[in-house]
Amino acid sequence: MDQHAELEGRRALVTGASRGIGAAVARALAERGAAVVLSARGRTAIEAEAEALRQRGAKAWAVACDVTEPAEVDALATAAVEWMGGVDILVNNAGIASSAPLARITLSDWNRMLAVNATGPFLLTRALVPAMMERGWGRVVNVASIAGRVGAPYIAAYAASKHAVVGFTRAVAAEVATKGVTVNAVCPGYVDTEMTTDSVERIVEKTGMEASDARRRLEGASPQRRLMEASEVAFLVASLCAAGARGINGQAIVLDGGAVQG
Ligand code: NAP
Repeated sequence: MDQHAELEGRRALVTGASRGIGAAVARALAERGAAVVLSARGRTAIEAEAEALRQRGAKAWAVACDVTEPAEVDALATAAVEWMGGVDILVNNAGIASSAPLARITLSDWNRMLAVNATGPFLLTRALVPAMMERGWGRVVNVASIAGRVGAPYIAAYAASKHAVVGFTRAVAAEVATKGVTVNAVCPGYVDTEMTTDSVERIVEKTGMEASDARRRLEGASPQRRLMEASEVAFLVASLCAAGARGINGQAIVLDGGAVQG
């Protein structure tokens, strides 16, 4: 399945790899020659994704893990190192989204959002980056969101979690800069995945709008008047993992067709 094999010999771990952006990232890394461990909570779906990659000649394994459970995260990191011999590329992609006006955000929703979207990346990065530093090569890519760069109504918890992961990215990037390791965030606008289908359903539920109009409203958030594709996010993530990207560090790169600039 290799075309450029620019990641031949690299070993990658991708969370939230059972569908959407994470599955596309796992595919893109495998196409470039990396061995990949795919993780998410649902075992059946990651097994199927890993099997599909193996069918195409890749080295791929599936390990179930809830990124909010420290013991499961440690077990995932250990399993990935056992399967592949080490982890050179970590893609913290697992995430959840919700929307509600401030007064209706419950403490448990807030805590859950931060646990999945911010604490999960912290736990895995902390587990895997020290060995990358020792080896003198590593790539961490955190899948944040434009909500990690700008705010918007009704997403206070999501935006807080994504700003947290962007801040974490920048600080760790500074800490590892002399060690051959880079840490970056990618910040997509609306991407055509189940998460966005859920957002469309929430808008329909709350406003009574037609689903097609709700979807057009989300498409309209981009100057390109479209949703981004998971494969476009995967292309950006894989590019940041290439040897030639070693100078890109501590960035939060927007991929939204041009709405958020600078
Ligand atoms: P998705 O289709 O809903 O997929 C989410 C993935 O995360 C699934 O594999 C899910 O599998 C996994 N996951 C959820 N909770 C988890 C947990 N506690 N532990 C481990 N895995 C968990 O979402 P997506 O659209 O591909 O989004 C992926 C990432 O991109 C997220 O961080 C999201 O915030 C970000 N993003 C998405 C968009 C968008 O418009 N879709 C835009 C910007 C940023 P299980 O349920 O089996 O665990």
